[in-house]
Amino acid sequence: MVVEKQALKQLEHNDAFTGRHIGPDTDEQQTMLNLLGADSLETLIKDTVPGAIRMQQPLNVNDSMTEQQALSCLRSLADQNKVFKSYLGMGYHNTHVPPVIQRNVLENPGWYTAYTPYQPEISQGRLEALLNYQQMVMDLTGMEVANASLLDESTAAAEAMALCRRSNRSKHPVFFVADDVHPQTIDVIQTRAAHMGIQVVVGNPSTELDQHEVFGVQLQYPGTYGEIGDIVSIIKQARQQKAMVSVAADLLALVLLKSPGELGADIALGNTQRFGVPMGFGGPHAAYFATSAKLKRSIPGRIIGVSVDSRGNQALRMAMQTREQHIRREKATSNICTAQALLANMAGFYAVYHGAKGLKVIAERVHRLTAILAEGLTTLGVKCNTSYFDTLTITVGSEQNALYKKALDSGCNLRMVGSDQLGISLDETTTREDISQLFDIILGADNDLDIEQLHARINGSGIQPEQRRTDAILTHPTFSRYHSETNMLRYLKQLENKDYSLTHGMIPLGSCTMKLNATAEMLPVSWPEFADIHPFAPRDQVPGYMTMIRELEQDLISVTGYDALSMQPNSGAQGEYAGLLAIRNYQQANGQAHRNICLIPSSAHGTNPASAVMSGLEVVIVKCDSNGNVDINDLRAKAEQHSEHLSVLMITYPSTHGVFEEEVRTICSIIHEHGGQVYMDGANMNALVGIAQPGQFGSDVSHLNLHKTFAIPHGGGGPGMGPIGVKQHLAPYLPNHRVSPIEGEHKGTGAVAAAPFGSSSILPISWMYIKMLGQTGLKQSSEVAILSANYMAERLSEHYSVLYRGRNNRVAHECIIDIRPIKDASGITEEDIAKRLMDYGFHAPTMSFPVAGTLMIEPTESESRAEIDRFVDALIAIRQEVIKVENGEWPADNNPLVNAPHTQADLVDSGWDRPYSREDAVFPAGNPQGGKYWPAVNRVDNAHGDRHFICSCPSTDSYR
Ligand SMILES: *Cc1c(COP(=O)(O)O)cnc(C)c1O
Repeated sequence: MVVEKQALKQLEHNDAFTGRHIGPDTDEQQTMLNLLGADSLETLIKDTVPGAIRMQQPLNVNDSMTEQQALSCLRSLADQNKVFKSYLGMGYHNTHVPPVIQRNVLENPGWYTAYTPYQPEISQGRLEALLNYQQMVMDLTGMEVANASLLDESTAAAEAMALCRRSNRSKHPVFFVADDVHPQTIDVIQTRAAHMGIQVVVGNPSTELDQHEVFGVQLQYPGTYGEIGDIVSIIKQARQQKAMVSVAADLLALVLLKSPGELGADIALGNTQRFGVPMGFGGPHAAYFATSAKLKRSIPGRIIGVSVDSRGNQALRMAMQTREQHIRREKATSNICTAQALLANMAGFYAVYHGAKGLKVIAERVHRLTAILAEGLTTLGVKCNTSYFDTLTITVGSEQNALYKKALDSGCNLRMVGSDQLGISLDETTTREDISQLFDIILGADNDLDIEQLHARINGSGIQPEQRRTDAILTHPTFSRYHSETNMLRYLKQLENKDYSLTHGMIPLGSCTMKLNATAEMLPVSWPEFADIHPFAPRDQVPGYMTMIRELEQDLISVTGYDALSMQPNSGAQGEYAGLLAIRNYQQANGQAHRNICLIPSSAHGTNPASAVMSGLEVVIVKCDSNGNVDINDLRAKAEQHSEHLSVLMITYPSTHGVFEEEVRTICSIIHEHGGQVYMDGANMNALVGIAQPGQFGSDVSHLNLHKTFAIPHGGGGPGMGPIGVKQHLAPYLPNHRVSPIEGEHKGTGAVAAAPFGSSSILPISWMYIKMLGQTGLKQSSEVAILSANYMAERLSEHYSVLYRGRNNRVAHECIIDIRPIKDASGITEEDIAKRLMDYGFHAPTMSFPVAGTLMIEPTESESRAEIDRFVDALIAIRQEVIKVENGEWPADNNPLVNAPHTQADLVDSGWDRPYSREDAVFPAGNPQGGKYWPAVNRVDNAHGDRHFICSCPSTDSYR
C-alpha cells in the first residue's frame, strides 16, 4: 500500500520540470559532492554560505507546477487580455511579423540563446545581421554611423541629450524638447536631466527656441500628433545658437520622408518596433541610434564594424569597445550593457526580406489609407491635420468621450488628446474595412462614404513634394537577394549556422548565467494576447497581464526579501540607474541632497560606476584585499572620510570574484552608520535564490537580471529585464510613468523607460520559470549552481590556479582561474585559451573581468556533469598544450593556441607548414560524435577594424 502510494506520488510528481532544468541528476550530484568531500548539498551550502545570511525559512513561493499546468494557468491569464485594434501610435504600431522571421529567429534557440558577440569568430552570423540592421538605420536616417541598438526610443533620447552635453562645446544650460515629442520620451528625458544639472524646457521650437540658451534640441519627426514639422528651419535656428539637434524619427515614415541626415540633424533615433516586432505591451524592441561621423567615438552602446581575420579575410566584430563601460567605467559614454540585439536582428531581417521596394509599398499603402481617412473625415466636416504620414489628430469637441467609448465598443483603441481631440495612427495591418469602421465610429454608420471614390478623389497627400526623399535606400545587395521565402529561410539558417549558441554546448560565461531557457518558458512570448498589445492600452483590457506581472513581482519580492518592486527597468544597468535614482530622491526628500559620494569596490562591473555617474554621483573606489574581498579597513576609512557626503555603496553579492564574503553584514552596517544606503547588484542572484535574501541582510535596493537568473534568454546581446526591489523607505521613489501611471504612492521619480513595465512580453518567461521550479526547485537550482562551480574549481585546481576562494576553500556559483602565471611562463594569454576552446567546441568563459589576465567560469545548474567534464577536460588538455609551448616544443609564435581558432580553411590549407598537425588543429579532442562546431573565420584582428572603422555593410561579399 505504501509502495503504491509512493508510485502514485511519482506519477503525479510536480517536480518533473526541475529534473529537466537541472543538469546533474541526484546520482551525479552525489558523485560531484564526493569529489568535494561533502556528504550532501545541504552540507556544501552550509560550508559555503555564511551562516549570518542564510535564510531560516523556506522560500515563500508556491510549489512547482508541471510544464502543462503552468502553461494552462498562464493561458487562462492570457485569455483575460483583450486584444483590441490599436490606433494609439506614440511610437508603437501593429505590424506583420514575417512568419519566416518569427519561426526562424524569434522562436529559434539558435538565435535567442546566443550571447553578446564578444567572441567574433563564433558570432559572425549575428554580427552580419546586426551590420545589416546598422546599414538599414544609416540608409533610412541618412546618418553616417549607427549603433547596434539601444533599449527603447525614450532612453535613446535621454542618451542623445547626454551625448549633446558631452560633445557640444557650448555650455548652455538648456536642453529644449519640442512639445510634440512622444510624452513618455519627455518623461524619461526629464527624469534623466534632473541629476545631470540640465534644465529641460518643453515648448514649441518654432517660436520659443531662440528665447533660451540651448545646448541641444530634441524633435519628433513626424510629431506625436502626426504633423510633419518644418524641422529644417528649426535646425537652422539651432545651428545659430550652437545647439546640437537630435531627431526621433519613425522608420517607416523615413521610407518616404527626407532623412534627418539630409536635413542636417546631428543625431537620429527611434523605435524599430514596427519593422516586424510585436508591440508586446511595451517591449522588447530595439531603439536605433545614429549620428554624424564626428560623433562616432561618443556614441552610446555597441557598434558592429568590419575587420579582417588572420588569413586576411573580411570578418566582423564589435568596434571601438574602448568607449564602453567595461573599460571606461565612470568615464564611459553610457551605462548600456545588455541592449536589444535579438530585436535589432528581427528589424534588420524585416528590411532584408522586404527590401526597398517592399518597404515603399508598405509605407505608401499606410500613407494612402491615412489620406483616404483624412479625405473622408474632412469631407464630412471633421477637422484634422493636413500634414501627416500615418497619424491624424481629429478635433471632435465635446464628443471626445463618446467617440472614444464608441471606438472601444467596436474593439478599437483611439488616443485621447487634450480635452477635445482624438488621435488615430494607422499601420501596416490597417485594411480598407478598418477605414470604413473608423468612418462608422466617427461619422455614424449612416455615412455614405465610399473608399473607392475617396481613393480616386485624393489628389494631394499629407506629404509635400519637397518633404519627400529622393535618395535611394537599401541599395546594398543584401537587401535585394532574399525576397523569396526560400532564399530568406536559407539566409537565416546560413547565418545561424555560423554562430555558437546554447544549442551547441555550454556557454560558461562568469557573471552572465547562461542557463537553460526552457521551451515551455518561451512559448507564451508568441501568444497574441501577450504580443499584440499596445503599452498604453487601457488597463482594463489587460487584467491577465496585470495579474501575471503582480504575481511575478510578489515572487521576486519573496526571493529577494524586499518590500516593493518596480518592473520598469529594461536591463540590469537600467535597474542600477533606477535604484540609485530612488536613493538620491529619497535622500533629497530627507534634506540630504548633498550626499553625492558613491563607493564602489574595484571588482565591480563597469555598469556600476557608469550608472553612478548618470545619477550625478561621484565615484570613489574601495580596494579589495588579497582574498578578493572588499578591504574592510579601506571601506571604513573611505566611509569615514566621506561620511557627510556618503550617498551609497554599490556592492555585488556574492562578489564578482566568485566568493561569498563573510563580512557582508558588517559592510552594510558601516555604510548605514554613516547615513548611506546600500545598493546590491543582483547579477549574481543565481547563487542566492532560496538561500539568502539581500533585502534581509542589509541591502536597501537591488536589481535582478531576469535574463541571467530568471531564464530570459540572452538574445545575442538583449533583450533583458532589470527590475529593482527596494526596502519600504525607498518604495515611494520607484519610477512612475506619466502616460500609464503605476499603482502605489509616488514621490516624484519619473519614468526610466518608455513603457510602464519595461519589456513586458518577456516577463512570462520568468513567470513560467518560477512557477515550474517552485519553492524547492528554485532553491535546488542555486544549490546545484554552487555545487557545479565547486566541482569544476576542484577539478581544475590541479592545473590552474583558482584565484579566489571563500570560507572552507569554497567558491560561489562561479570561479576565476588565473592565466597570468601561464602567460609569464609561456607567453600564452587568456585570449589564446579562449580562442583555443572554440576548437574544442566551447564558447569562452568571461575574459579579463573582473581581473585582467583571468578567465571567469560559471557552469550554472543546467549543465550536466558530462558537459562540465567535457569542458574541464578541454581546459586540462589546453594546459598540456601550454606546457609544450613552455618547454619550447612548439614555438611561442606558432602553436595551436596562438593560431586558434582553426577553421575549415586551415583544414584544406595545402600549404600547411605548422609544427602541429591539421588534425590536432581542428579535432584536438577527437572528432566529436555529435558533429563539430566550426568557427566561421580565423582570429579576428580587433585593432585593424578600429584603425579602419567601417560600420556599414562592406561592398564586397568576400566575408560570406
Ligand atoms: C550583467 C551585469 C550587469 C549589467 O546588466 P545588464 O543587464 O547587462 O545591463 C551589472 N553587474 C553585473 C555584475 C553583471 O554581471
